[in-house]
Amino acid sequence: MDALAALTERLPDGAVSTHPGELTSRSRDAWPLAMLREIRGERLPRPMAVVFPRSTDDVVATLGWAAETGTVVVPRGGGSGVTGGAQAQWRCVVLDLSLMNAVGQIDRESLTVEVEAGTHGDRLEAALNREGLTLGHHPVSLGFSSVGGWIASSSAGLASAGFGTIADLVLGLEAVLAGGDVLRLPPVPRSSIGPDLRRLLIGSEGTLGVITRATLAVAVAPEGYRWHAFALPAFEDGIAVARSIVQGSARPLMLHLFDDAEATSTFNELGHEDGAVLLLGFDPGGPDDAQAVEVAADAVGATALTQDFGEHWWERRAEGAATFRRVMGEERMLGPGVILDSAEVSGLWSVLPKLYAAVRDALGAHAARPVTTHLSYPHRSGASLTFTVLLHGQDDLSVEDRYHKCWEDAAQACHRAGGSLARGVGLLRAPYLEAELGSAGVATLRAVKQALDPHGVLNPGKLLPE
Ligand SMILES: Cc1cc2nc3c(=O)[nH]c(=O)nc-3n(C[C@H](O)[C@H](O)[C@H](O)COP(=O)(O)OP(=O)(O)OC[C@H]3O[C@@H](n4cnc5c(N)ncnc54)[C@H](O)[C@@H]3O)c2cc1C
Repeated sequence: MDALAALTERLPDGAVSTHPGELTSRSRDAWPLAMLREIRGERLPRPMAVVFPRSTDDVVATLGWAAETGTVVVPRGGGSGVTGGAQAQWRCVVLDLSLMNAVGQIDRESLTVEVEAGTHGDRLEAALNREGLTLGHHPVSLGFSSVGGWIASSSAGLASAGFGTIADLVLGLEAVLAGGDVLRLPPVPRSSIGPDLRRLLIGSEGTLGVITRATLAVAVAPEGYRWHAFALPAFEDGIAVARSIVQGSARPLMLHLFDDAEATSTFNELGHEDGAVLLLGFDPGGPDDAQAVEVAADAVGATALTQDFGEHWWERRAEGAATFRRVMGEERMLGPGVILDSAEVSGLWSVLPKLYAAVRDALGAHAARPVTTHLSYPHRSGASLTFTVLLHGQDDLSVEDRYHKCWEDAAQACHRAGGSLARGVGLLRAPYLEAELGSAGVATLRAVKQALDPHGVLNPGKLLPE
């Protein structure tokens, strides 16, 4: 019996698919480089099968089989990752968790929800909204990304200012380790019995275990948002205002600062012509923080804008995803030889102005249009900057060279300025791991990987470079 037949025998009927369409659609995620390669007709590495588990036992059976046969397993949620984290390799099996999508018990007393890892964000959010609750996790990819993918790539969302990033929301986890042992970490608000193993899986890119279930912290859903918006002379002024708000007494659920280039394109319809824009979204049922916010904004000579700016942005929050698909997908809206990508970096408030200039300039040296930037996911000590960059080459091949050079320069600029690359590792960012963690950090991760996955079957190359 060949290896795949043995796997098929261990799993329920229909769990293993070798349908060519299924193999192709699960061969890559939304990494722009893989999308470009596919569209220019290159044959991407395809899995030999896609496995659709319906239960933790199915995942246990698959990983047990993988350890015995030495077969590589690539876990996959929604496939929305932008770094090649869920990219297949030849002769691997893709473990697609999309059928493990049950929203389980909601504990109204503790404000938690138990959910299977393959559940997509919109489905989870709808289930919570029916109970008057929200997870408050709103990545732009909400409708096509999953709980397991969020955890494995350490995702953040548009309302992370108020609700926290996914790392803050994970209370309990169930994960299957390579070889088939099940790690069950119960939901607790704080873990201080040794290092927190939940943290080991957050951001692990499917290389240390397959997350099958999580218990997440939820909140009472606000009835909409009360918006405050300001026009600022410069992005750096906005950084100063954002910091003083976040470090002060006001509690915004959302805080988004757009630089001139991004503000002009986002708010063009509202007549905004130049300058940075700061948006703050508050719970209308919470304390009115208008005064604190105005004092901070006045200090840099900001001008108040109407509530419409907030509503306009929130209503159109999914449009960036549609544009990305139109540019990088079949339609090739901007023609061949084009890559649209975004780069998120994070840093302390003290380095953010320098980080902004350094990364924007590094990307800008390669870009076909002005790089646009926004600041988000703020907390007391710092925030993230997300840059959107459009690259143009003479053709699909030459733009790929530009892409590599652009990322190399941006990563170097980020590290020199004291920042960190964010939004997942995957094939794109694994080469920068040493610059982030140092050689002792990489050696530590290698030792952990070796101990947990001695046969190296779980998603090789997506965290530690091969
Ligand atoms: C248009 C667009 C907008 C985006 N906006 C945001 C945003 O606002 N914020 C943000 O953080 N990200 C954003 N992303 C990136 C992406 O959506 C996130 O990284 C998301 O968390 C990936 O989830 P997924 O379910 O699609 O994971 P996948 O892409 O399927 O996988 C991501 C990684 O997690 C691993 N993995 C998946 N499921 C599991 C599991 N159950 N157990 C173990 N490992 C697993 C995979 O092997 C891979 O390494 C965006 C992407 C696009 C295309």
